[in-house]
Amino acid sequence: MPKCRICGRKAVVYLRHSRLWLCSEHFNEFIENRVMRTIKRYNLIRKGDRVLLGLSGGKDSVVLAHILSKLRESIGFKLYLAHINLGIGEYSEKNAEVAKKISEKTNAPLIILDLRKILGVGIPELALKTRRPPCSVCGVVKRYLLNALAVELKANSIATGHNLDDMATFILKEFLVQNLEQIPKLAPRIEGVKDYLVAKIKPLYETYEEDIKKYAELNNILYVEEKCPLADETTLTWHLKKHLRDLEYRFPGLTIGFIRRLVKNIEKYPKPGDTIRRCSICGMPSSGKICSFCKITEKALGKPMGPHAREYIKEIVDKSIID
Ligand code: SF4
Ligand code: ZN
Ligand code: ZN
Repeated sequence: MPKCRICGRKAVVYLRHSRLWLCSEHFNEFIENRVMRTIKRYNLIRKGDRVLLGLSGGKDSVVLAHILSKLRESIGFKLYLAHINLGIGEYSEKNAEVAKKISEKTNAPLIILDLRKILGVGIPELALKTRRPPCSVCGVVKRYLLNALAVELKANSIATGHNLDDMATFILKEFLVQNLEQIPKLAPRIEGVKDYLVAKIKPLYETYEEDIKKYAELNNILYVEEKCPLADETTLTWHLKKHLRDLEYRFPGLTIGFIRRLVKNIEKYPKPGDTIRRCSICGMPSSGKICSFCKITEKALGKPMGPHAREYIKEIVDKSIID
């Protein structure tokens, strides 16, 4: 029976990328240290920060909520959770239930934004009416609502559960299609603009998806395993992720080596040319005159809903007892 490299007790996990057998206690320590190092290395969270975590209910964001709740004392920051109910039938209801339980467990205040309450429709109808792929509409909606909420909460950053495999896949995809100016936007920290765009941070940037899954299993952490019924498994991104996983199996440590070298070289990539403006309708960040959220909602519902969504979020924040 393999033994833990640190303490010699029975090992329960083998980390291929580090050629390491570990017991559950030292595996937890390994993962939490890795997240802490990522936070420090890329200056993701500073003492006194207010961090808003986008909690979907899937394993990545749920595990991140647990780890950040453990680290908040030693770093000295406040953690808030935000869940967006996307209105995707039973799938969304299950995720909302998990989000509530995680909030209790981590003792971090949760704000739920329900898309059907804000717009009267969910992602399936928005996608249908705009004839856009559901994930593209969903991405716009989630980014908009999270940012608007973070602005109201005066948060210093929005944390997301993107893991090492996700980020390596996104970067490879942009490289393959030679969208090189998109690569700097995939860094572990993206700065915001005072008053209307909150910084984005990815504390799981150097943590393998497989390890996140093991961490959830070993610590009996509840999450929604079911895939979103609207997920598209025919995209280039989906295939790239699958192949990258196979390559990592054959060449352990390939992904982490790639991402660390990439971040070191990120300054050499062309800077994104699009300047961040403010939407002339709702005042939120936009690359053009009108933001994507206002455009999508105008097309689907006949009226740009940015101002209404912002008002709705402001009321929720005013009513909540979050300090
Ligand atoms: Fe949204 Fe697509 Fe994710 Fe479903 S799979 S939650 S539609 S981004
Ligand atoms: Zn051990
Ligand atoms: Zn707008």
